[in-house]
Order: sequence, then C-alpha cells, then structure tokens
Amino acid sequence: MTPDTENTTGAVERLAETQADIAAEAAEARRPASDVRLIAVSKTFDAPEILPVLKAGQRQFGENRVQEAKGKWPALKADFPDVRLHLIGPLQSNKAKEAVELFDAIHSIDREKIARAIAHEMAKQGKHLELFIQVNTGEEPQKAGIPPRELPAFARLCRDELQLDIAGLMCIPPVDEEPAIHFAFLAKLAAENGFSALSMGMSDDYATAVAFGATYVRVGSAIFGSRPKP
Ligand SMILES: *Cc1c(COP(=O)(O)O)cnc(C)c1O
Repeated sequence: MTPDTENTTGAVERLAETQADIAAEAAEARRPASDVRLIAVSKTFDAPEILPVLKAGQRQFGENRVQEAKGKWPALKADFPDVRLHLIGPLQSNKAKEAVELFDAIHSIDREKIARAIAHEMAKQGKHLELFIQVNTGEEPQKAGIPPRELPAFARLCRDELQLDIAGLMCIPPVDEEPAIHFAFLAKLAAENGFSALSMGMSDDYATAVAFGATYVRVGSAIFGSRPKP
C-alpha cells in the first residue's frame, strides 16, 4: 500500500483515543487499566505508516501473515528492540520455524499439528512465546479455531503432552452476531479450562471485549485507518 498522509497523521491521535477508551472501559468494569493491553494491528500497512505509532510509544503490534511481517518487521525491530510482535492470523505448520523466529506471541494455535510444530520450534530455538488457543466460538465452517467441544482435550494435549505454556484463549466472533455473547462464552471456556488471558475485541467491539474481561484487544483500522478490501 502507498503511504496515505491522512491515515498517517491521524494514527497517533487515534492510538491515543483508543487507549483512552480502553482505560475508561476498564474503569467502568472496575478493572485496572494495566490488565488490558492494546495490540496495534498493522497488517497491510508499511513502515512509513507504522513508524509514527512506534514513535508515539506503542510497542505491541499484530500481523496476520508470516511472510508480510518478515518483510517489514526485522528492520523496525532493529530500531525498536522492545517491540512485541503478535501473530494473530492462521498459521501453516511449514511456517512454524519462521513464526517462532520473528514473533513473540501466537494467538492462533488451533490444531494438533500446529501445536506440535510450535512446541518443536520453541524447544529447538530456545525461545518462549506467549501462546493462545483460538476457539471458533461461532462454529463457522470457514473460520479458523478449534470447536468449543474439542477445547478441553486439546488444552490437555498442549499442556500435558507437549508441555506448552498456553496463556489463554482467542476468538473472532461471527460478523453478524452480538459479540458480547461470544466474549462471555470465551471467558467461560477460559475459566473452565484454567486459562486467565483472553485475546478478544477488534476495532468495532473492543470496548465490549474489555467489559467481558479481555486482557489483549487487537485493534487495526480504528488506529491505522481503513484497509483496502481484500
Ligand atoms: C485484522 C484483524 C484484527 C483487527 O481488525 P480491525 O477490525 O481492523 O480492528 C484483529 N484480529 C484479527 C485476528 C485480525 O485478523
């Protein structure tokens, strides 16, 4: 994408607004603001658009494709070594090596093959990533994520057999349904399975997600501006 001046100048302001919104929503829910961390989702945006947001102090960023992230983040990370990069999109097991090399967290663990590949790569590279199991709370056939009924067995496999330290659960609610129902469901599944972290909430619904216990919200267009339609 070519840099869009209007998007860029606005991004720092919109970052501040998003942070203020999150803090207000956390206060309303009687949660400490520090419990909710903001991931700025920079997919489709290039370095010139990301830099102002980095310079404004934002350090957690999300990308949904390993290849795309590989093209822009190594150089940015060289200048901002304390950046934490989150993979939020579907992962292929043949990309596990690169994913573990580049990312600090993966939110999309959703099947045994991926869990094994990530466990193997983390051991091999001596690197510990923060991991989330993605749950397909709406049971949508085209969407990534483990079906809710399979979560207990999958969580046991990750913990007991693979010794993966899973931080929590992630979901993307169906576009045409009330997100609150899915956030409440994910929070319940997390409690039942002994997880404390919740990765949920995007530009349109992060305030609701905070009210339902999100510990990470993943916000893209509300900060960087609208993306070209795929
Ligand atoms: C793109 C994306 C986001 C951010 O979406 P916005 O609506 O732009 O905030 C969050 N989570 C995932 C998994 C995404 O792919």
